[in-house]
Amino acid sequence: MPNPMFDALFAPLAGRASPLLILADGRTISGDAFLAMVARFAHALRAEGVGPGDRLAVQVAKSPEAFAVYGAAVALGAVFLPLNTAYTPAEVAYFLGDAEPRVFLCDPARQADLAQVAGSARVLTLAADGTGTLADRAAGQPGTITPADRGEDDLAALLYTSGTTGRSKGAMLSQRNLLSNARVLADLWRFTDRDILLNALPIFHTHGLFVAGNTVLLSGASMIFLPGFDQEAMIHWLPQATAMMGVPTFYTRLLDDPRFTRDLVAGIRLFVSGSAPLLAETHRAFEDRTGHRILERYGMTETNMNTSNPYEGERRAGTVGFPLPGVDLRIMADGRELPPGEVGVIEVRGPNVFQGYWRMPEKTAEELRPDGWFITGDVGVVDDRGYVTIVGRAKDLIISGGFNVYPKEVELLLDEVPGVKESAVIGLPHPDFGEAVFAVLSGGAGLDGAAAVDAIRDRLARFKQPKAAVVVPDLPRNAMGKVQKAELRARYKDWFT
Ligand code: ATP
Ligand code: MG
Repeated sequence: MPNPMFDALFAPLAGRASPLLILADGRTISGDAFLAMVARFAHALRAEGVGPGDRLAVQVAKSPEAFAVYGAAVALGAVFLPLNTAYTPAEVAYFLGDAEPRVFLCDPARQADLAQVAGSARVLTLAADGTGTLADRAAGQPGTITPADRGEDDLAALLYTSGTTGRSKGAMLSQRNLLSNARVLADLWRFTDRDILLNALPIFHTHGLFVAGNTVLLSGASMIFLPGFDQEAMIHWLPQATAMMGVPTFYTRLLDDPRFTRDLVAGIRLFVSGSAPLLAETHRAFEDRTGHRILERYGMTETNMNTSNPYEGERRAGTVGFPLPGVDLRIMADGRELPPGEVGVIEVRGPNVFQGYWRMPEKTAEELRPDGWFITGDVGVVDDRGYVTIVGRAKDLIISGGFNVYPKEVELLLDEVPGVKESAVIGLPHPDFGEAVFAVLSGGAGLDGAAAVDAIRDRLARFKQPKAAVVVPDLPRNAMGKVQKAELRARYKDWFT
């Protein structure tokens, strides 16, 4: 019976003796052994009542077993729903209440707390070392499975957005959404069965799970599968890899390490960055150090990947490249499409675009047009050669005294001021201006916020200049390296009032 995702991603693992996963401790798991684990988990989950269309929620540490649960969900035709391991029981309660999964898989150490918020879901456990009630029930199950019959329009995953701009929304992703994107990326980035991808990303997010995981599965490649970003482990494993995918903070942390040299990465053919903006400065420093130009791409939970810098051809620092094959992209303002060079909201259309927000018909109608265009909420510009640059998020746009201020324009200038490591520019309520521009700077102990703002004064129109600045040791970021501007706005909301 057909199941396009299972057939393309997991079925080809049958009989594969070579490693699919290479683990931090050096152990390997062959393709065939991984597929047997997928099958045993699927049988165990089916015995708990998980069937086609049922949500399977998981909040567990990254492990080969956790990745196999994804395969089990695909085999069963269930809807895979991974949750950020940082979410507290109160947060998990929201997701489980919203998604109503059949089974909730959690860490045994947290079972007592989480069982109370699981509602009608059956609770099973999976620890970082692979043990738990799921493993108990899977033991003795058959190592092969006939996948459930599925079509490309059936849902495969319900991924919640990162919650950077507000409450997380569940993005419904079909088999077609995921497969079409995996095919495009594997092809564009030239993945083959000779590749070994270093994956230190979390697998509760689209980047580590789909961009990395599906590309590897589809191309027959293997993956060095680290539980998280650990500097020592990265330095140890980089020489064995042919490709790496990371968020910008991975790259800045590697650059901070003197052991990270051109020789260390001599065997790598591709570095990919995404999930948050990569500073052009990091791009250049990386090239100086390693001779490699990082390939930056742009995507989101709702769409998988939308754009990528070219594999061959110029990878332009500070841009996210061209729309992917099959993806249409346009820049819109006031209901009309803008020409190259003008800044507006990015809209995308293609087989990658999701099916809507789970149980949020109004939100879906607001952001997904009937003709298939999705309003991303990101603000960007396309240059005359077709390169897309992300300028920021529509929700972060500051309107001060009636004038629009794009935070990124101010941040780029502040970042150049000596002593400033990085900056976040936000709008805060202000009695006269409505919103006032406010800068949060990170840097060393000697950094003076007011002086940093003074230093950029003659380069910015008055209405764009920060009215005040604070210095913090580090900007707040989530696991994907995204600066948490909502948190900063809440922290400083009374500054001007
Ligand atoms: P929420 O939608 O809940 O507010 P979120 O948008 O941060 O959270 P994700 O889907 O994880 O949740 O992230 C997608 C967003 O990440 C994009 O809309 C974009 O703003 C940002 N992003 C991804 N890649 C890049 C990139 N290369 N450069 C700049 N921004 C990027
Ligand atoms: Mg978003």
